[in-house]
Amino acid sequence: MNNTKVLISGASIAGPALAHWLTRYGFSVTVVERAPGPRPGGQAVDVRGPALDVAERMGILDQLRAHSTRMRGMSVVDATGAEVYRTTERTVSGGELDNPDVEILRDDLARIITGSVGGDVEFLFGDSIAGLDQDDDEVRVVFESGRARTFDLVVGADGLRSNTRRLVFGPTERFIRHLGVNMAVCTVPNFLGLDNWQVMHQMPDGDMRGAMVMSARDNTEARAYLMFGSAEPVDYDHRDVEGQKEIVAHALAGDSWVMPRLVEHARAAADFHFDSAAQILLDSWSRGRVVLLGDAGYCGSPLSGQGTSLALIGASVLAGELAAAGGDHRAAFAAYEKELRDYARANQEMAVVNLRERRAQAGQAADASLAAEVLVQTGVEEFAQVVASYAVKDY
Ligand SMILES: Cc1cc2nc3c(=O)[nH]c(=O)nc-3n(C[C@H](O)[C@H](O)[C@H](O)COP(=O)(O)OP(=O)(O)OC[C@H]3O[C@@H](n4cnc5c(N)ncnc54)[C@H](O)[C@@H]3O)c2cc1C
Repeated sequence: MNNTKVLISGASIAGPALAHWLTRYGFSVTVVERAPGPRPGGQAVDVRGPALDVAERMGILDQLRAHSTRMRGMSVVDATGAEVYRTTERTVSGGELDNPDVEILRDDLARIITGSVGGDVEFLFGDSIAGLDQDDDEVRVVFESGRARTFDLVVGADGLRSNTRRLVFGPTERFIRHLGVNMAVCTVPNFLGLDNWQVMHQMPDGDMRGAMVMSARDNTEARAYLMFGSAEPVDYDHRDVEGQKEIVAHALAGDSWVMPRLVEHARAAADFHFDSAAQILLDSWSRGRVVLLGDAGYCGSPLSGQGTSLALIGASVLAGELAAAGGDHRAAFAAYEKELRDYARANQEMAVVNLRERRAQAGQAADASLAAEVLVQTGVEEFAQVVASYAVKDY
């Protein structure tokens, strides 16, 4: 096997999943993660369709099921808190309840995947790639900590705002498609007393302003989504969390539903995560010995409901193609992209179409109850078709 020394940037979902597969195939893996340790937080994410096969082959599907969110259903409420819509068939975060898909908190999933990685993986927490250059034989990497190392291959699994992509492909602005929606996610107390339930409120001003709260971890806590639309991308400092909290508080000002309490809880949250719902569109997922994986390469946005599944599938395919090509990165990167590009693009387009549809229909709904139904049900069948349109090869 050639090219066995691999550096992965990012230790959320895609990075550890790739580490799992590469070590199984005999590669030697280092993972660098900017955060000082495994990052807490994140809303419920979904493992569905072909990603369930990947989880099964990784030997973690039973653990995922044991830690699933176990939602019973959801309500939509109006500005006074009165319920205008209720369903026990699906949730806005997880989709249909009566199917094999697994909805799980992002941090639980990350922990389970990381725990499944063989013992030989080196994790470098609290560090980041500061610079890299490559030639035909290797990639020379300098880290922010000052250490310098050489690797055969580098994988950017560092998310929507990928550092690896910026260093090798160019600035994020060149590849990002903003969807006009911004989202914050954080842990809050279960102050609504929800019992495996989620509640959603969207202000009727057509500006996508609203929130969703769902109970988590056997109702001992809750996770909140705070959302607002903006025609132009919001200008903010990605490292200034307090500044981001201010932006969200300002956008959701007013006393609709429990918004003031929710905003106060968000201000106090230690795991506040904010970003615009955006997608990454690249002509090519690799440059030489550097390749992108998961959100870094083909982010669909939380609105696609498929970011986590795509990251899991991508890790399995990338590692499988590398092993099948005996480590020949040119052949493997080309095969990885050929295998997955159409599927990733179909998932991205579905998110755009569904959002457009929802916006158009919500404006026409005769009453709050109908508007809520549109919010929850739009695009359900098309979504299921796109999810099922790919089967992962058994490498
Ligand atoms: C804290 C957090 C909360 C999230 N919440 C939600 C949510 O509520 N709903 C949803 O649908 N999706 C959420 N996501 C995104 C979701 O996890 C991804 O869409 C999906 O799982 C694909 O995962 P990924 O590993 O490709 O990217 P991500 O999960 O975004 O992971 C990227 C990783 O790279 C790390 N990283 C970033 N920059 C550097 C750097 N310079 N050097 C090293 N490491 C770096 C990040 O800390 C992170 O651990 C969240 C992600 C994070 C990190």
